[in-house]
This record gives sequence, C-alpha cells and structure tokens, in this order.
Amino acid sequence: SNKNFNNFIEWLHPHILAIPVPAQGHVIPMMALSQCLVNHGFKVTFVNTDFNHNRVANALPDGQSHMTKDRIDLVSIPDGLEPGEDRRDLGLLTEAMRRVMPGKLEELIEKINGGDDEKITCVIADQGIGWALEVAAKMKIKAVAFWTASAAVLALKLNIPKLIDEGIIDNDGTVLKSQAIQLAPNMPAIKTADFVWACIGNETTQKIMFQFMVRSIKAVQVADWILCNSAYGLEPAAFTFAPEIFPIGPLLASSRLENSAGNFWQQDSTCLQWLDQQLPSSVIYVAFGSFTIFNQTQFLELALALELSERPFLWVVRPDITDTTSDPYPEGYKERVASRGQMVSWAPQQKVLAHPSIACFLSHCGWNSTLEGLSNGLPFLCWPYFADQFTNESYICDVWKVGLKFEKNETGIVLKEEIKNKVDQLLGDEIYTARARKLKEVAITNVTFVNTDFNHNRVTNTLPDDQSH
Ligand code: UDP
Repeated sequence: SNKNFNNFIEWLHPHILAIPVPAQGHVIPMMALSQCLVNHGFKVTFVNTDFNHNRVANALPDGQSHMTKDRIDLVSIPDGLEPGEDRRDLGLLTEAMRRVMPGKLEELIEKINGGDDEKITCVIADQGIGWALEVAAKMKIKAVAFWTASAAVLALKLNIPKLIDEGIIDNDGTVLKSQAIQLAPNMPAIKTADFVWACIGNETTQKIMFQFMVRSIKAVQVADWILCNSAYGLEPAAFTFAPEIFPIGPLLASSRLENSAGNFWQQDSTCLQWLDQQLPSSVIYVAFGSFTIFNQTQFLELALALELSERPFLWVVRPDITDTTSDPYPEGYKERVASRGQMVSWAPQQKVLAHPSIACFLSHCGWNSTLEGLSNGLPFLCWPYFADQFTNESYICDVWKVGLKFEKNETGIVLKEEIKNKVDQLLGDEIYTARARKLKEVAITNVTFVNTDFNHNRVTNTLPDDQSH
C-alpha cells in the first residue's frame, strides 16, 4: 500500500469525534490516538459511556473531568444499562448499547453541529462498535474504523464469511471443526477453540458477540480507513494478507498519558520509587489487565509461586481481580514477602515496563500489554484469559519466540511449581531477552514519525545522502 500516515492526516477533518468500545483496553489506545491527532492540530471530542466517564474522572488526581490538558473534549452518553446492572456481562452490555447508543450518538452530534463550535465531520469509531460507523454513514459524516488489537485477529474476523462457507463455523459462530487456522504462512495458527468470539463468556454471550461482530464487520465497508494499533514489522504476514488494514502503531502513550484521562483506576506511582531500589533486570512484573478474574485457588497458587521464586516482584492486584470478597492472600503472606514483593491495585504500567529493573512480564497478553512489553524489549510469561489473548500468546511464543506458555493441570489450574519453573526457564536462558530486545527495535522503528513540514525539511537537509522518507 502506498498510503502512509501523512495521507491519513491530510485526509482528516478538523473536528473529529472519537468513540471507543467502553473497556479499559480500548479507551487507552483511543485516547492515545486522540492525543496524537490533537498534537497535529485537530480538535477531538471523546465520547465515553456515562459510567466510564465517571470512572475516568474519579481516577484523575485533580478531578478535572471535561477537558484533558491537551484540548480533548470529554463527553458522555448512556450505555443503556441501569446503575446496578452487571457491565461485566458483555452480552447484556453489548445488547443494551446497541439499543440505546446509536440514537444517543446521533443526538450528540446533532447538538454539537447545531452549536457555534466547529462541526464534526469525521467519526473515528472502534471497529468493535460498528453501529457508530453506521451512525456516521447515516449522517453523511466521514467514518474511520480503529482496531485496537492485532491485525491477525481483525483479518480473521474479516474472514468470517469464508469460515462459514468452508463449514468451519456455523451461522452462529459455533465451531464445527476443531482445527488450527492459519490464514497465511507466518501468521499465528489460531485454534478454532480460541476464536475471539468463542472465548467470551457462556454460550449465549458467545452467540450475541458473534452476531455483533458480523454486523460490525459489515459496517466497516462504510469506513474510509481501517486503522490498526500494530506495526507492519510485527505482523508482516497479516498486513500482506489483509492490505486494507492500515498499521499506525504501536501507539504508546507513555509520558503523554501520564495523569491524563483514560485510566479507570487511579495509578499508584509509589511503585516506581520501589523499582528504583531494585537491581537492573531483576523484577518480575505481574499484571492481567482490566478484565481478568481469578478464582481463589488459582490466586493462591500464583501468590505462593511468586514467593517460591525468591525474586523481587511487582504484582497488580485489582480490587476486583478475584471472585471472592474476603482477603484473597494466603495467611501471613504480605508480611512474608514484604521485603521483595510489592502489590498495587493499578500501576502506571507503561512507566513500569520502561523501568530498567524489570526483567520480564507475566501477562494476560492483552494486545496493549503485549505492545507495551515488546516496545520495552521484555520477554513474557503468558497467561491468556479470554478473547484475542490466546492469539497474542501464540504470536509471543510461536511466532516471535519471546515468551513461554504455562501448562494447566488436569483440574485446569496452573500450579506454583509450574509457574516457578517457567520463570526460571525464561530468565535462565539469555535467548528470550536477546530476541525481545531485537523485537523492540522492530516495534519502535515502525512507529510513524510525523514532523512539521518545516522541521521535516530541516532534518532531511542535515542528512548526508538525501534520504528523506
Ligand atoms: N494498565 C495499567 N495499569 C495496570 C494494568 C494495566 O495502566 O496496573 C493498562 C495497560 O498499560 C494497558 C491497559 O491497561 O494499556 C490494558 O489493556 P490490555 O489490552 O493489555 O488488556 P485488557 O484490560 O483489555 O484485558
């Protein structure tokens, strides 16, 4: 493709409405993209659900909730659920959103465009909420789809009609043949059981999510661009296979996202000082993103494994990470590990991963976490939980070979000895870290670098050989 980021920027319109899927792993990259666009002189109106808007505002240290420091308007519309209803039930949430949000979004755009402000002439919507693209098309506004995970998974979704034709799944997304699908050589082989819709909730939720995905895939046809938070160098086979997907990543917010609106929990930055006191490349960073839930048995096993490892560790334990309300730790645990273990409820993850004392990332393999670990040259221990995380694990372990998987026992538990052994194996063999450092170069040299015309010319004039692109 001869399209580049400059073409996209030139095509863009002055006032953009950005609308993410209402989940942490979607809001963060959409905010990073918005900040990037604001830096290019565009105005961005960022639409959260009311529920998430409040969480984001509460997580900000200074309670500023309507405009970020960099001129992004934060607004919100209802998600269709009542206050007490379970937003972790993705089927319930998805159906409520689909029912209520398109109308609310249309009203919002009409209201803004009826006022004195610059009119919204472009909507950037998460690919996962195709209805927002449909609203844009209906209102004759330019539409851009933004996919916040790997190109491989989007390519698989774009291929759903073919999977149905070939009898691999039925019209409900139910898997008919158990096999591994490789769309093209060098792409990760995805087991049918790991298809993104087959790994979300119970059977009812899976069917709802599948139909929703099918509709969102159709809606992409109205989009002028399909952006993806990934880099060509990370997924050359996927981007060659699906050239309509346009890589703009990794969009790493790091310092820019500091204290800015996007986190659902307040970041505990005290762990950075603790990291300062640790030896270089010594700490295991353990975090499972925003959604993963552990049962009590598995939580205990992980806690004991970290103790058994005898290495320093920083572990993110979200207030809602276990399915129990009582204290989830083994008795006396906090005291026993106090000298070398730190638990925080939400970390400034991008800064943590960039810290020189981190040795490896024990991760649930969410796509953002994957990109953040890669961009800092870290090897992984993979503990996927749901959705696309199994494909990301396959990228990490089978394609890039910068990580290890855990084996579960016959009751579906990863035992403490298994965890300790894999930590030792990963950190005992230089090869994983060496490959991860190389991959970091691939990840970050693929970042699209945009200068002003003025500085672009100055920079190229200082180059000896006239190479300017
Ligand atoms: N994150 C964070 N602090 C934490 C844990 C996670 O800031 O303690 C951020 C992380 O940097 C990433 C996002 O939350 O940007 C999680 O996205 P990901 O795709 O990895 O997982 P998800 O939450 O969607 O499962």
